[in-house]
Amino acid sequence: MTTTRPRIGLAGIAIESSTFTPYRSSEKDFEVRRGTEEMLQRFPFFQDGSATGTALREAADYVGVLHARALPGGQLLAPTYDAWKAEILEGLAAAHAEAPLDGLFFDIHGAMSVEGMDDAEGDLITAIRGVIGPDVVVGTAMDLHGNVSEALFAGCDILTCYRHAPHIDAWETRERGLRDLVETAAAVAGGAPRPYKALVHVPILLPGEKTSTRIEPAKTIYAGIPALTEREGVTDVSYWIGFAWADQPRCKAAIVAFGSDAQAVEDAALELATTVWEARHDFEFVAPTGTFAACLDEAVASEARPFWISDSGDNPGAGGADDTTYALAELVAREEIRRNEVSALMVSLVDPAATDIAHELGVGGRGEVEIGGHIDATAPGPQQLRVEVAALDEDTPTGRSAALRVLDGDAPTGLTVVITARRSQWHSRGMYERLGLSMTGFDIVTVKMGYLEPDQYEAAADWRLALTPGGVDQDLVRLGHSRIDRPMIPFDPEIPAPAREEILRGGGA
Ligand SMILES: [Zn+2]
Repeated sequence: MTTTRPRIGLAGIAIESSTFTPYRSSEKDFEVRRGTEEMLQRFPFFQDGSATGTALREAADYVGVLHARALPGGQLLAPTYDAWKAEILEGLAAAHAEAPLDGLFFDIHGAMSVEGMDDAEGDLITAIRGVIGPDVVVGTAMDLHGNVSEALFAGCDILTCYRHAPHIDAWETRERGLRDLVETAAAVAGGAPRPYKALVHVPILLPGEKTSTRIEPAKTIYAGIPALTEREGVTDVSYWIGFAWADQPRCKAAIVAFGSDAQAVEDAALELATTVWEARHDFEFVAPTGTFAACLDEAVASEARPFWISDSGDNPGAGGADDTTYALAELVAREEIRRNEVSALMVSLVDPAATDIAHELGVGGRGEVEIGGHIDATAPGPQQLRVEVAALDEDTPTGRSAALRVLDGDAPTGLTVVITARRSQWHSRGMYERLGLSMTGFDIVTVKMGYLEPDQYEAAADWRLALTPGGVDQDLVRLGHSRIDRPMIPFDPEIPAPAREEILRGGGA
């Protein structure tokens, strides 16, 4: 045992980016933190006064370099990535020269796509290893929609990910990952061997909406993980669903285990991988699905109010452009809504120009606006609408926004549309309240989401997942992947079972 207080670097870039959307993510989409103070403030468990968080804060000397995080989007522009990569490398080199680092918390999502690259996180950790060397213990705590490539696995000593979708355990996971890293780095600095690690890939690609942990089989698979981690010699075991909306060879499910006993680690990884493989044909959508028109038929006819519909193909939370008009056009055209017999809310589309026009018109002002279809022109493209401004909001964390009542001539229809200056996802009650809107105050609520987040789930009396077109189309087979490994479910009817010979191993030395 050792009493070393380890020196831990903090750095990373976190984004989930679709390669199927025309949207490109750049610096303006990110919240960037630099230096130790700003980086430490990222972690709520360091600020909340909890005993575990306080102990973890005091267990190490942290050196923050750079962290950038964004709402899911499109491929990151290469110059933006290159600049941050250079800054991270320089910062870590300087920190490591000042006093050797014992550990690095590689703070990533795991599904970052960068223009021209197949494995951005693998590239970044490989470059970081070039600067800090092989001895520093590297740990990461990722989104379960991230990918674990061989390069990422090689670059990290300990890897973990969330066990819930929706990700209610995001901070709990980072706290667990950071604690394991601090303990491991201290032990290794004191002469202990590194943990053993094992990786098993399972060639299944699933949209997040088939892998909600509220439903089977993901519910039982993830619920079984804590028992695996309690085995002698096993510290942690994780299951990455992988990221379906990038056309890259690394995209597939991954299972990683680590701990002090090589055999126990390998067995746990293989066992969980086999469980996932056995369920390969059982993953179903989290809610009843249909075309948008079919979902709208059901919503109009239903007694359940509010009836929620996810416009899932353009879900910005997975990387959609947030401005396709497929669902909007159907809502506008729907007779019962046009005649104001059924009230409907559509949240939200990003459209800075239309948002500015709404702010010029002012509350109660009427005019013509062209909404959506400027980034992702998936049919039917921009919609010309006559509207009355119902409410405005300035300078929210996601920029200005406006609620517009769609008019038919001079008569109000039942449809209200929210537009925003920046890509955003309307998942929490507070966001609606800022515009005087209630999550339950409409007959039908259409959101650019996949599965509903907790506030929404609670508000919805009923819900359909509409399989709409867009950059994060849930119908993977029609998207046109060409560079992923094959065979792969759902593109091929069958895949081989995980085999012990194919386990990638590391650590121990
Ligand atoms: Zn995720």
